[in-house]
Amino acid sequence: MKKKAVKKKSAGAGNKSADAGNKSADASLQLNEKIWPLEKDVLFRPDRFKYVRKIVQPKGCVFCEAAKSPMSFETLCVYQTKHSMVVLNKFPYNSGHILVLPKRHCADPLDLSNEEYFDLHDLLRVALLVVREAYQPGGVNMGLNLGAVAGAGIPDHIHYHLIPRWSGDLNFFPLVAETKVVIESLEMSFERLVQCFNDLNEEK
Ligand SMILES: [Zn+2]
Repeated sequence: MKKKAVKKKSAGAGNKSADAGNKSADASLQLNEKIWPLEKDVLFRPDRFKYVRKIVQPKGCVFCEAAKSPMSFETLCVYQTKHSMVVLNKFPYNSGHILVLPKRHCADPLDLSNEEYFDLHDLLRVALLVVREAYQPGGVNMGLNLGAVAGAGIPDHIHYHLIPRWSGDLNFFPLVAETKVVIESLEMSFERLVQCFNDLNEEK
């Protein structure tokens, strides 16, 4: 028995670098679980993809639910046009992280009508203006993850991300950081952005 145990230990030692790799991945998993439950699994555990999708979408489509409801903090919707809307990201990468999307449930920009497409992209431009006015960021991440394999959290309903960035925030992929700083609460972001969209409308 003793010999067997020693042999086992030796085999373990032989896999030292593999173990170290796993340990490193586990550390990242643990870190990200507190910050980005979805992105963690997409990046490190593709085998859990279906499971993650279930967590993200327990029932129905959150965007369609928000589109059907009146604008309020409960739906995180800060602005609407005829065909499009702006909602706060419930799990922001940074303060002021918003999503710009069509109201209609649609997985592909090519399936939007011309009217929906132009409305969406017009709103995208307005949203960029508002984010700049509201947060005075040094830069903005602005983009669309098209499809689950491209990193879309809710792949069946397209949505652009707009993320204000500041020099030194380093929060976009905090793989080595212990903390992610989001200075503003969702309630504060909601009030600030609703006000800014309203102000912009009044100026028109
Ligand atoms: Zn939807």
